[in-house]
Amino acid sequence: MIIDLRSDTVTRPTPGMLEAMFSAPVGDDVFGEDPTVNALEAKTAALFGHEAGLFCPSGTMTNQIAINVHTRPGDEVICEQNSHIYHYEGGGISRNSGVQARLVEGNRGRMTAAQVTACVNANFDWLARTSLVSVENTANRAGGSYYDSETLVQIYQAAQQHKLACHLDGARIFNALAASGQTTLQTGACFDSISVCLSKGLGAPAGSVLLGSRSFIAQARRVRKVFGGGMRQAGYMAAAGIYALDHHINRLTDDHKRATVLAETVAALPYIKSQLPTETNIVIFTLDERIPVEAFLQKLAGEGIKAVQFGPQTVRLVTHLDFTDNMLDKTVSVLKAVAV
Ligand SMILES: *Cc1c(COP(=O)(O)O)cnc(C)c1O
Repeated sequence: MIIDLRSDTVTRPTPGMLEAMFSAPVGDDVFGEDPTVNALEAKTAALFGHEAGLFCPSGTMTNQIAINVHTRPGDEVICEQNSHIYHYEGGGISRNSGVQARLVEGNRGRMTAAQVTACVNANFDWLARTSLVSVENTANRAGGSYYDSETLVQIYQAAQQHKLACHLDGARIFNALAASGQTTLQTGACFDSISVCLSKGLGAPAGSVLLGSRSFIAQARRVRKVFGGGMRQAGYMAAAGIYALDHHINRLTDDHKRATVLAETVAALPYIKSQLPTETNIVIFTLDERIPVEAFLQKLAGEGIKAVQFGPQTVRLVTHLDFTDNMLDKTVSVLKAVAV
């Protein structure tokens, strides 16, 4: 039994999802003629109360397209210092859109409206034009923390006051909603654009949907084509996304419960130097000097458990659709047995 806790992207499509993919009606989506893609886009947009959606191959692409549409070269994007758009998209914001990041030191990945406001540049020729704030919920690198609804409303108000667009990197937005009890419509009302990943906790093999107004999505469609993300019979993938939205949202609380058990197990180990609170499906902890991270990961690997290094002495575990209670039991006993 291989237990893969490296990411919630490692899941395989379930039999029901595969069936939905096999039987999907498809067409050429670059011509806008794939009924399943159109259905996924409409369904996701309606869920969040946005006008339109755009199906893309990845969450990196939906973020990069949104940033491209919201900004002009030379602009500044306000984001938290740990954010995916800054760390994990290959420098794409500068490469694709010629913009720079204004980094906020948040509280476990979360900014406040006051911090956002403080980063808005005054209107001088020599300062970059601030045009966008990008929020990540949940915040991956900060351990899967989520925003409270007041903060999101305040950030959106601050953005509107300063005429900034407000984008949500919602790669794990459904994890955030499962934990916070907020609704998709509340979330939708706080952002001009939203990237929703289908291939993380929702368990689809690939794909993200970008949401926004009709005119925003019309521009985004052009950019998607330029970035090489215009797919043809993409309905087979979109069908997996529709299936995931219908069947895999409510079960996310199971992932969170299992992550909590892992977090509690880790907390009781004698060689843990620090650990981030686990609020959703991510467990991040740092080992003390008595056990090198390579040795720790090797001991897990020897028992068939894959985890990922997330810093010099730091490890990340992520629970997901393919991580069962049996695997949880095994992982807990293996973790307890790792001695220094
Ligand atoms: C995974 C992820 C993305 C998108 O990643 P892709 O692998 O390109 O789909 C974006 N933001 C966050 C926070 C993520 O965790």
